[in-house]
Amino acid sequence: MTNPAVSFEVFPPKTVDAAFKLWDTAQALAPLAPRFFSVTYGAGGTTRDLTHDAAHVLRRTSGLPVSAHLTCVGASVADTMEQAEKFHAAGVTDIVALRGDPQNGEERFAAHPEGFKNSVELIEALALQDKFTIRVGAYPDCHPDAASQHANIQYLKRKFDAGAHEAITQFFFEPKSFLRFRDQCAAAGITKPIVPGILPITNWTSARNFATRCGTKIPAWMEEAYRAAERDGRTELLSTALCAELCSALVDEGVDALHFYTLNRPDLTRDVCRALGVTPQTALSNVA
Ligand code: FAD
Repeated sequence: MTNPAVSFEVFPPKTVDAAFKLWDTAQALAPLAPRFFSVTYGAGGTTRDLTHDAAHVLRRTSGLPVSAHLTCVGASVADTMEQAEKFHAAGVTDIVALRGDPQNGEERFAAHPEGFKNSVELIEALALQDKFTIRVGAYPDCHPDAASQHANIQYLKRKFDAGAHEAITQFFFEPKSFLRFRDQCAAAGITKPIVPGILPITNWTSARNFATRCGTKIPAWMEEAYRAAERDGRTELLSTALCAELCSALVDEGVDALHFYTLNRPDLTRDVCRALGVTPQTALSNVA
């Protein structure tokens, strides 16, 4: 088994305490020489300045590539492209380009009257600039808005055809979700990289709620395993074992890169990386 390349997603801090947590996360994970850190964009575009500042500081202090997430929600085309320009001016030339989720508890996504109508339009606009690396979201267990898995995959193909360079998937709990999706994407003619998104579970209740909202399938055996682990006070052990097992099953099937949703908690991610043979590279431990 060769060691996979890794990347780490963090979210921008809203308080001083949260800023320290992000800092600790970066310090703990930068020595693992990730391909990049990515910084999320709050639902409804609520963290646009914080995302910018966190991405900028992370890039400057870690010396590592940083990808800033950008959504179309609640903003005109001009505002969204101005935000992309600000990322670029801060040295952040890598963008995770997304449509985003519906605002204010609405059922369906509704575009801003002068905004991008979907992710494909945003990707096209970014690609036209010819100065960004563009990553996009992909959904192995199918996106709730997709009419079918076929439509889900065809839409991903449109995003690649529009200029995306790589896709990062929504998290999933079983290797077969990703492996089947990878095969279906290949059969649909998608040749660009699709990197599995991995969620180390720090809190099962939140992970399950989040999975329900975003369409990730929850295997019955996981419910039972967490129920027993909670009773015995061994959830951390279970999470580490399950996540390491998921990752090594993917690596055994030829997956060469993994993207971790760290939720600004580095310990579990670091333990799983260690189990996969991804260990600190002293030359790159330069977050200071
Ligand atoms: P898209 O792929 O554009 O659309 C999702 C699905 O809906 C498609 O598979 C397609 O089947 C269907 N669909 C959409 N539009 C059309 C259309 N016009 N015609 C036909 N079918 C259509 N959210 C945030 O708010 N901030 C973040 O920072 C953030 N980061 C994320 C990072 C990753 C790696 C992922 C996977 C998701 C992230 N999200 C984030 C969540 C994301 O915003 C939601 O999943 C959102 O509902 C879909 O965004 P998208 O660009 O991936 O969707």
